[in-house]
Amino acid sequence: MNRADERVISARWIFPVDSAPLPGGTITVRDNQIVAVLPREDRTPDESHDHAVMIPGLVNAHTHLDLSRLRSQTPPRLPLTDWLGEVIAFRRKTSGDSALDAVQFGLAESLRFGTTLIGDIAGGGLSWDALAAAGAWSVCYHEALGLTEKRAEAAWGEAADWLRSRPDSRRVRAGLSPHAPYSVHRAIIEAAARIAPVSVHLAESPEERELLEKHAGEFVPFLKKLGVWEPTSLAPSWDWIAWRCSRAAHALLAHGNYLPPKTPVGAQSTLVWCPRTHTAFGHPAYPLTAFLAAGHRVALGTDSLASNPDLDVLAEARCVRESHPDVANDTILRMATLDGATAMEMDHVTGSLTPGKSADLAIIPVADADPADPHDLLLRLPLPEKPRRTMWRGTWRD
Ligand SMILES: [Zn+2]
Repeated sequence: MNRADERVISARWIFPVDSAPLPGGTITVRDNQIVAVLPREDRTPDESHDHAVMIPGLVNAHTHLDLSRLRSQTPPRLPLTDWLGEVIAFRRKTSGDSALDAVQFGLAESLRFGTTLIGDIAGGGLSWDALAAAGAWSVCYHEALGLTEKRAEAAWGEAADWLRSRPDSRRVRAGLSPHAPYSVHRAIIEAAARIAPVSVHLAESPEERELLEKHAGEFVPFLKKLGVWEPTSLAPSWDWIAWRCSRAAHALLAHGNYLPPKTPVGAQSTLVWCPRTHTAFGHPAYPLTAFLAAGHRVALGTDSLASNPDLDVLAEARCVRESHPDVANDTILRMATLDGATAMEMDHVTGSLTPGKSADLAIIPVADADPADPHDLLLRLPLPEKPRRTMWRGTWRD
């Protein structure tokens, strides 16, 4: 007999992520916590998902929910500055209300796909209230944009005020996002990392390096056209940025498409890769194997709907499976869950199916097949078009 205050849920496979997959295992939930993860014969399930697998709730470590109305509007293309110009033009004509509507839209989509922890970058920290009310954990990174000394001063004042005025919340925590090396004054990167967790776009294109190290390349006319060309405000190198960010409580270094694997990335820093966006832009192969071999933690993000077809972290993991045959399946699933939670200092709460952690999980319908490696059900075989179910803090979302 199961205890009245416990629910025992089984699935065809359970992937705890921090331990080996369990065929027909069970998970026991009491209140909002996981209290046991066991082989099936140990507990009689109250609820069985025989055509689905159970994984920890997915973790999206890099998105911009406020761009969620841009699906198919700004197809990725190189040079990056052309695409950035289009996104900037869109943002300039977007009102606060429509940005909020975009946040709600993107948030609903993220939750539907089984995400239970989100790292969102938001202009003006605009997504805070929506995230605080959502059925998910999150970190809201207030975006700071401002390259010239004058603009940087104003941007920093606004970001620091926002950070100071954040109410206490267990669900959503505050961070800062000095946007990118080409869009933000070096002093903002340095100051942000000193007082908050940070999320920074880094090494997204080879031209970014040319800009920092030689003050040359396609970013120069781009910045001149925007009226913000001020080379003395630029950070000197990617190494400098990685080093400054390593002082933050945690740092998410987004993309890193061209980052040399030997770059000194701090222990509290995580590279966040957005594989489908990477592919859509047509960048050369991502050095994932070299990053992992160098000991860097790599988590996954969807980036925004300005460059991605949807906000499904599992689809990102499946893209990694396809592009990196040499990376192990369990590593890829960990990148989509526990590594993202560790990246945002939430691994004591979520990211794996572990007794004592929050009952955050996704039930993913899978093909009726029996591959030698059960991870293939999730990462390689076609997924049936059936809705997923998600539990956050012990409560089903639907
Ligand atoms: Zn981004």
